[in-house]
Amino acid sequence: MNTNHLIFNLKHIWHPYDSMTKPLPCYFISSANGIYMQFKSGLKIIDGMSSWWSAIHGYNNFRLNKALIQQINNMSHIMFGGIIHQPAILLCKNLLKLLPDELECIFLADSGSVSIEIAMKMILQYWNALNKSKQIFLTIRNGYHGDTFSAISVCDPYNSIHALYSGFLPKHIFANSPKLSFQDIWNNYDIHSFVNLLVKNHDKIAAVILEPIIQGIGGMKFYHPTYLKQIRLLCNIYNIPLIIDEIATGFGRTGKMFAYQYSNIVPDILCIGKALTGGMMTLSATITTKKISDIISQNKPYKLMHGPTFMGNPLACAVANENILILQENIWKIQVSNIEKQFKIELFPLLQHPKVLDVRILGAIAVVECHQFINIKLMQNFFVNHGVWLRPFKNLIYLTPPYIIDSFSLSKLTRAIKFALENEYLFQ
Ligand SMILES: *Cc1c(COP(=O)(O)O)cnc(C)c1O
Repeated sequence: MNTNHLIFNLKHIWHPYDSMTKPLPCYFISSANGIYMQFKSGLKIIDGMSSWWSAIHGYNNFRLNKALIQQINNMSHIMFGGIIHQPAILLCKNLLKLLPDELECIFLADSGSVSIEIAMKMILQYWNALNKSKQIFLTIRNGYHGDTFSAISVCDPYNSIHALYSGFLPKHIFANSPKLSFQDIWNNYDIHSFVNLLVKNHDKIAAVILEPIIQGIGGMKFYHPTYLKQIRLLCNIYNIPLIIDEIATGFGRTGKMFAYQYSNIVPDILCIGKALTGGMMTLSATITTKKISDIISQNKPYKLMHGPTFMGNPLACAVANENILILQENIWKIQVSNIEKQFKIELFPLLQHPKVLDVRILGAIAVVECHQFINIKLMQNFFVNHGVWLRPFKNLIYLTPPYIIDSFSLSKLTRAIKFALENEYLFQ
């Protein structure tokens, strides 16, 4: 039966960034519980990915399940046009508690990419309302903001899928990505490219958009908090709104609730997603200031022109609420800090390894950057055979485990990476 499923899958089902004729292999998972993903055979593997930064409390979490079941029995969905409900009110109250006072107007959306679309639409409507035609965004190289067109248009123009659609996409401005990393001693030269572009183009630039501290899929680079702090100051000087994409980094992953807190700044627009529901279902939010929402709302067409069918879905809101309640108990801080300590002990020694170019660790994120590109198919198979689930890409093996992982299982993840580095055939 398993083989039948796999054959059907091969023939009919697309997977993320994959081919229909020669796809990467798929593993049939029949259930997931805690830090484990389970095959039909009963074999369990340890999750090192949190299903792309999202399942921070692990799988089949009792409290998250209960929140969903209770909400299902009450009301799974209702349109948001002209209707408000308890789960949405509670979620927005809970979000405001986590955020600086200035961020007070919340748009609930479907996915991370859509929350970026909305942020960019907010900006276009904002400048329209002020009678200024500003439509160009300034961002940095190596960024990733999602897979819908506006989001792609601010992804790195060379190392992302951007290039594939470049003729179709609006042209934005890209500063060199920061070279200094999180722990380096700050030097102003790191931000020269950004400053030059901003000074030269500030009358055209509608907003600055970037990921805070961690650049995710664009290269898993960790930049210096002063970089973001200076961008905030520059945006203030030139009166340019700052959009912060916390979709991957939000909800404790970096050791702070939000990564922008390392720079002690407040964005004008904040995008969140991924871990917002504890990885249980899709939900995102675009959150902005009263100033921006007032300008949009007090000028033609007097409203923000976006409204997803499943906006404010009660199930998603209810489970996001429970996720935030769990986070507010602050156990995540100990969990993430323990993971970070153990990562440092077990992975920093790999800096000596001839295959390894760099090891970067922050909070519950570890990145082992290799000299060579990885054969993803073979390395993934190697990891599964070693009882762990990791999804390397390019020359990067990275770990974003669920916060609840125990130290024994975490060692299994780091050990699997060490073993993989000893096998030349896993590299291209
Ligand atoms: C994943 C991600 C997105 C896109 O979110 P989706 O839910 O996949 O649309 C946008 N920005 C960042 C930084 C992300 O990591």
